Amino acid sequence: MTDTATDTGLAEAEAAEFRQKCVDFMEQFAPGQNPTLDDQKAFLAAAAEAGLAGLPVPAEYGGGGKTLAHEKIWREVKGNYPFPDSEFIISHGMCMPMLAEYGTHEQKERFLADNISGKTMWCQMFSEPGAGSDVASLQTKAELDGDEWVINGQKVWTTLAHKSDYGLCVARTDPDQVKHAGISMFIMDMRGPGVEIRPIHQIDGGSHFNEVFFTDARIPKDWLVGDLNNGWNLATAMLMYERVAIGGAGAGKINQPNFKMLRKAAESTGQIDNPVVRDQLMQIWSMETCKSLVAMKTRDELKAGKTPGPGGSLGKLFGSNIAWKVRTMALEFAGPGSVAWDPDDESAAELQRIVLNSFQSSIAGGTDEIQRNIIGDRVLGLPREPSVDRGVPFRDLKVGTQSS
Ligand SMILES: Cc1cc2nc3c(=O)[nH]c(=O)nc-3n(C[C@H](O)[C@H](O)[C@H](O)COP(=O)(O)OP(=O)(O)OC[C@H]3O[C@@H](n4cnc5c(N)ncnc54)[C@H](O)[C@@H]3O)c2cc1C
Repeated sequence: MTDTATDTGLAEAEAAEFRQKCVDFMEQFAPGQNPTLDDQKAFLAAAAEAGLAGLPVPAEYGGGGKTLAHEKIWREVKGNYPFPDSEFIISHGMCMPMLAEYGTHEQKERFLADNISGKTMWCQMFSEPGAGSDVASLQTKAELDGDEWVINGQKVWTTLAHKSDYGLCVARTDPDQVKHAGISMFIMDMRGPGVEIRPIHQIDGGSHFNEVFFTDARIPKDWLVGDLNNGWNLATAMLMYERVAIGGAGAGKINQPNFKMLRKAAESTGQIDNPVVRDQLMQIWSMETCKSLVAMKTRDELKAGKTPGPGGSLGKLFGSNIAWKVRTMALEFAGPGSVAWDPDDESAAELQRIVLNSFQSSIAGGTDEIQRNIIGDRVLGLPREPSVDRGVPFRDLKVGTQSS
């Protein structure tokens, strides 16, 4: 009997065998509901041990040495279990592929295995108080002093900086070039001298992101990632990975997590037989189904060896549209309970966390307006936005605290 290819491109027998390995692993090691960071680290260490973490990364750097087709199967299986490694979305969705694609051999040897196995956690340091949507206006600077880079400046909204060991940071290395040209990317030691991390307290009671201050923070010369002054291209690549990671979270199969959560809320509040509610639930179901399909298409492009392109913005924007709709529905279901609830009622409190947390989806990873600009410009081929700073050296721009 001949062995036919599956939709992953692997031969049927190989795909089935690998899928079974993933299922067996998850049955033994999946950490269950709401895993702590330690649970997630233990899960990743076991996955690395079993050759299931960092699947497309070569084994010599601590990866699984498999293909993106294996990665697709692994995601599909993992997607059936509640977020076993959700705290590592930046570490693994963004920093790992950047190191694997752009890191030097020495950087990969030194950092990748620990990143993959969850021994170290990584964060992303792009945004500054005066540089968010327009990251290229960043003012944090890196200056070479002998064999070390000296970093000074401030980052903000750095998710999980307080739990991270390392971070990928963009800083200005040549203010005489135009703003996009004089930027470089570095690996930062988050626990090193000169790095101060201050948590930001959020509206939902959490504290997941931070301000990060660099005061004469020193890193070795060879912690530069990619070429000097080529940081903008790397930052763009990382943002694309970010949009795929956010827009494609849980991708690998068709999934409707918000629909399931809202259906439960409608049932518990006795509204499930209301035809208007049922209609709204079906709208969410359809939107989430479409989002899954868009995310799967983007993942398939990755699998085919393409660096993620502007299409990642579609999934990201769609996820944000869903979050807005979920928020409205959750508030309607809760009624007066949306402003006051029994402190012992954990499901009402959870609904509130979802409502408050939903606001971030249209900001984090690039705002909705920016995603629309990218889709208009790079997907639809519409005319670019006017730019007032083209050709002007960064040091002559009025941006952030710079007034010259
Ligand atoms: C939960 C969360 C986690 C985050 N984590 C990180 C992280 O780990 N690392 C990191 O570096 N950053 C992180 N960020 C920061 C995030 O990337 C920025 O907040 C985002 O890019 C927007 O920048 P800004 O807040 O400076 O807003 P601004 O850029 O000042 O934008 C303000 C408003 O102006 C609009 N706007 C700006 N420019 C345009 C334009 N050209 N056309 C149309 N409208 C425009 C925006 O859409 C927005 O509505 C995080 C943010 C959140 C909410």
